[in-house]
Amino acid sequence: MPSYKAPVDDFKFILKDFLQVLEHKDLPGFDLLDDELIDQILENGAKFFEEVWAPLNMIGDEQGCTLENGVVRTPEGFKDAFQQASAGGWNSLAIPEAFGGAGLPGILSSCISEMGNSSNQSLAMYGGLSSAALMSLMYLGNDFQKNVIVPKLVSGEWTGTMNLTEPHCGTDLKLMNTRADPQEDGTFRISGTKIFISGGDHDMTDNIIHMVIAKIPNEQGKLENSLGTVNFFMVPKFLINEDGSLGARNGVTTGSIEKKMGIKGNATCVLNYDNALAFKVPESKAPVAGEKQSSASGMAGMFLMMNGARMGVGMQGYSQAEVATQNAAIYANDRLQGRSLSGPKNPDGPADPIIVYPDVRRMLMMGRSFSEGARALHMWLSFLGTSASKLTSDTEKQAANEISNLLTPVIKGYLTDMGFVSTNAAMQCFGGHGFIKEHGMEQFVRDSRINQIYEGANGVQALDLVGRKLFANGMIGTNAYYAMIDSDIAEAKALPELEIMCAGLERSMTRLREATSWIAENALADREEAGAASYDFMTMFGTISLGFMWLKMMKIAQTQLNAGTGNAQFLNKKMAHGNFWAQKMLPDTASLLEKIQSGGDVLMTMEASSF
Ligand SMILES: Cc1cc2nc3c(=O)[nH]c(=O)nc-3n(C[C@H](O)[C@H](O)[C@H](O)COP(=O)(O)OP(=O)(O)OC[C@H]3O[C@@H](n4cnc5c(N)ncnc54)[C@H](O)[C@@H]3O)c2cc1C
Repeated sequence: MPSYKAPVDDFKFILKDFLQVLEHKDLPGFDLLDDELIDQILENGAKFFEEVWAPLNMIGDEQGCTLENGVVRTPEGFKDAFQQASAGGWNSLAIPEAFGGAGLPGILSSCISEMGNSSNQSLAMYGGLSSAALMSLMYLGNDFQKNVIVPKLVSGEWTGTMNLTEPHCGTDLKLMNTRADPQEDGTFRISGTKIFISGGDHDMTDNIIHMVIAKIPNEQGKLENSLGTVNFFMVPKFLINEDGSLGARNGVTTGSIEKKMGIKGNATCVLNYDNALAFKVPESKAPVAGEKQSSASGMAGMFLMMNGARMGVGMQGYSQAEVATQNAAIYANDRLQGRSLSGPKNPDGPADPIIVYPDVRRMLMMGRSFSEGARALHMWLSFLGTSASKLTSDTEKQAANEISNLLTPVIKGYLTDMGFVSTNAAMQCFGGHGFIKEHGMEQFVRDSRINQIYEGANGVQALDLVGRKLFANGMIGTNAYYAMIDSDIAEAKALPELEIMCAGLERSMTRLREATSWIAENALADREEAGAASYDFMTMFGTISLGFMWLKMMKIAQTQLNAGTGNAQFLNKKMAHGNFWAQKMLPDTASLLEKIQSGGDVLMTMEASSF
């Protein structure tokens, strides 16, 4: 069975040294933090997820979920482990105290979320989607939803889901057929079929709050093929009385659960809505009959939920790489095969451990430098959003907001692509034993594969980056982000140990600017060019963004090494992995630029029937 050890030292390094969260007492919730509390939360969280959730990961994969007589059952131990996490407050650290959470900064709770995803992605998803649902209700819901429903989602008494996909409509939501018919009393009745709904039904909690998008028909009672008619609704599995107690079963049933490649412990459901009572968000006034609701679009709620979910899936990408690489490193130090190319390193043994081989080291260092760089990027971006509230100038605030928008598709797309590549490389370190179930490596690969698909396939993220975000609002975000990287490079040049990284990142930035200009010049005339360049551009952007994070981390590590503070072994490892990123990953930006500049003709000229 694989093991999991939460990367507590790295969490501490990012929180305390990199983001310096203890220096920001004026941000909401940060006044509660001190050195000891951070350590205590990280260490207790690590113990819980390592000992309670991780051992259930393979069980979840082997047993999967079942549907019998209309009841969905989760794998053995899942219900208890979910309830223990809820009781321990692990799902609600960053929820304001008024809603039943601990009111701590989101940046701390993202460490805990990563532990949940690394130890057991399937189980983590039940709580993850609840968070997405509760955020939309907490920010946009009416008083009843905020005061009665949100606290039950926070406490883990209920869970939430996100319902977008339909059989003929995944990426293109305009095509959806689920209809929401307005009722005299201001409520709606929803009918239609949603598929692939994660945690759509289960036996872990008494109620499930489905957040559903559906179309309101036009005056002729027809559904239009337009996003303007799509709205956002709350549909409880069991209706909720004024006092929060449960009423009758609503008109939503589970048609089937999918048999699938990975994340088998999470019930992926077909949900049939048959005249289900629904409440519009954010405009609905009450979840019970009686009050009129406005007809304004509820897309804001949907985007709020989807953006949160995209960040969450990006995290899933590096969570799997983290745990898979950990196991591969243990194995590589243990497995004896052949002799080192430069002579025996284990002369008393029958062979050397495979860690002696440059290629095995390449795979391990890629996984480690990716997962640490990705964690830093995810946490840096979350913190940028939080700390933007302290900025005094509107321009700076807007730039921070635009950088968040710019990087969200990169977090989802690049971190899940590289998450899969790194997880797969970790499996490769096991040779044939990685392909065999016993070590759990093939499960990590299967589980991590979905991250590239759901929450918007990665090709669509790339298109979002290039088509919507890169040139948005006069490129305020893009220019500000590029300038930040330039300025960090200039500063880091004072440290000779960072020379390779500074030079590599500087060359990559020149290529990134060239790629940006090439797209600006060519894609305006021909939108297919933007589509053709988008994936390589996202990969280039992600590779450089992780380089940016490594530059920042190396600067801190080298400064501490020079001062003789900190743990030298940990800091030297940081320097080594940063140098790996500079020497073995950043050079990819040269070939990516060449691919971008070769244009899209080769893709678009062949007849569809010739494929
Ligand atoms: C295990 C699992 C769990 C899921 N959980 C949920 C959930 O909880 N809630 C929910 O609503 N949905 C969920 N989904 C659905 C998931 O989000 C969709 O499968 C995904 O968004 C892609 O939609 P699709 O499968 O219909 O693919 P399609 O939209 O048919 O796309 C197929 C492929 O075509 C390409 N493509 C499509 N459009 C474009 C474009 N405009 N530009 C470039 N390329 C394009 C992409 O490569 C894409 O992979 C889940 C799916 C799975 C498998």
